Amino acid sequence: MATVAFIGLGIMGRPMAVNLVKAGFDVRGFSRTGRSRDAAAAQGVPIVGSLDAAVADADVVITMLPDTPDVEAVALGDGGALAGMRRGALYIDMSTIDPEGALRVHDAAARAGIGCLDAPVSGGEVASIEGTLSIMAGGTREDFDAARELFYAIGASAILVGGAGSGQVVKAANQLMVAGHLQMLAEAIVLLKAHDVDERGALAVLGAGLAGSTVLARKQNAILEQDYRPGFRVELHNKDLAIVQNAARRKGVALPATALVSQFMQALVAQGYGALDHSALYLLADELNTR
Ligand code: NAD
Repeated sequence: MATVAFIGLGIMGRPMAVNLVKAGFDVRGFSRTGRSRDAAAAQGVPIVGSLDAAVADADVVITMLPDTPDVEAVALGDGGALAGMRRGALYIDMSTIDPEGALRVHDAAARAGIGCLDAPVSGGEVASIEGTLSIMAGGTREDFDAARELFYAIGASAILVGGAGSGQVVKAANQLMVAGHLQMLAEAIVLLKAHDVDERGALAVLGAGLAGSTVLARKQNAILEQDYRPGFRVELHNKDLAIVQNAARRKGVALPATALVSQFMQALVAQGYGALDHSALYLLADELNTR
């Protein structure tokens, strides 16, 4: 089985690395904080002491990091992952980053003779733990085929959606849809409460019809129980909506509803709720209607 360096063992990366270990891959994990390294080690992920030690001689290097600058800091430059990898190896960034950042990483990998995929994921922490992520990859067919076995150790679906950077474009579309669904779910609950209609029963009915969605199924409990432990942090979704808006601006397209929900997400960050789960959008919808 291939040797896989896994960089970034947070909420998403840790269970992904655990599933690769379970599938028989020879995993070397590395993450910036001691806490994330210790948590991964406790779940059976072999940990090494540095980025260099993780990527040297790895067949595949995966990054699962917060944002575009984090990926560029880890992948690029003299001390970066691409500089330490052997020619012919494969670099896969599974973080959610700006498509333009992904293109810079693809270019650097091509210059170094290293295969490259941008392969962000959807499904959240639950799918990461269950190994049922939806993986949207951008790159060449050859690199995608080389990653196929690995993808099916962590995902239920892996699709090559286009060339370099297009995985991140599809993920941006995913993030605006999830934000919109969450905002509408929050407003639906405000309306139900205002009429003293039992929310659980109502949401069960709604979930069985056209309004049903994964967002409704997975996020209603967080709102009904006011339990906003992440999950997916507001600050990360806010970062993603900035990526969406920048990508739209570059192509000159207008996404007005996305702009509105982006402002709600930004307001949550401004109010100090950045570390909560993104289902905390409900807090603002509720506050707008509270005397
Ligand atoms: P997280 O903050 O929990 O984990 C990120 C990890 O990266 C941390 O353990 C941190 O120590 C590590 N890290 C940061 N900089 C590093 C560096 N320079 N070198 C080594 N390690 C470094 O974030 P997360 O929720 O796991 O999200 C990771 C990515 O996946 C983000 O791009 C996010 O947008 C995306 N994503 C998250 C979810 C979700 O539900 N949480 C779902 C889909 C996609």
